Amino acid sequence: MIPPVSRMNKLILWDIDGTLLHTGGLAGEGMRAAMNQTFGYAPRRERTFYSGKTDRQIIHETFPELQESELLERLPAFKALYVQEMEQRRESIIADGRVMPGVLALLEHFHGQVVQAPLTGNIAPVARLKLEWLGLLAYLNTDVGAYGDDHHERARLVPIAMERASRYYRHTFAPHDVIIVGDTPHDIRCGASHDVRTVAVATGPYSIDDLEQHHPDAVLADLSDFAAARAALLGAG
Ligand SMILES: [Mg+2]
Repeated sequence: MIPPVSRMNKLILWDIDGTLLHTGGLAGEGMRAAMNQTFGYAPRRERTFYSGKTDRQIIHETFPELQESELLERLPAFKALYVQEMEQRRESIIADGRVMPGVLALLEHFHGQVVQAPLTGNIAPVARLKLEWLGLLAYLNTDVGAYGDDHHERARLVPIAMERASRYYRHTFAPHDVIIVGDTPHDIRCGASHDVRTVAVATGPYSIDDLEQHHPDAVLADLSDFAAARAALLGAG
């Protein structure tokens, strides 16, 4: 059922890893296993190499010699293997994964009040698995949002997410209706490039100081202070 637009005129686009939750490195391990099987090699880089990037971008940067057409051709196989690798780690991800402080209260608060959807570098099926396994799927509409298999550039995911939400809710979401929440400079830049509000949280690999250098509209250590987080998201106070 499509909720009434009058109550849903804001669109909060949540980054997943480092913002809503973390999987204790298990999803990254699954992704590298799938990359290895699909492309014959997988990088072992520092955490910031992956953070904030789309899965397609990570593949691009790991295999620069790979033509775009070739990558797209192998993408379905990679996706199927990645989902399979995730399924094999299901119990461990449920046991070791964590929802970030304050996230649940905010998702619950905004549920039914605004539209909440993912904007993530994760391919869509993996985004859904992470949200489902850590108990957050009910709060986000994964029929809308934008994912790492939609485009390799994170900034291009913003208009995709806005268009999907506009079509789904039959209501045009303008840039001033949209809020992006994320834990990396990539999240801030992708929002800023489309004039949408950006809220940065230092629950991933970047500190408050690192994030502030990219001029988000608000930056928080984490989302545990409900009033502060709500104000940061809505731009009030
Ligand atoms: Mg992130």
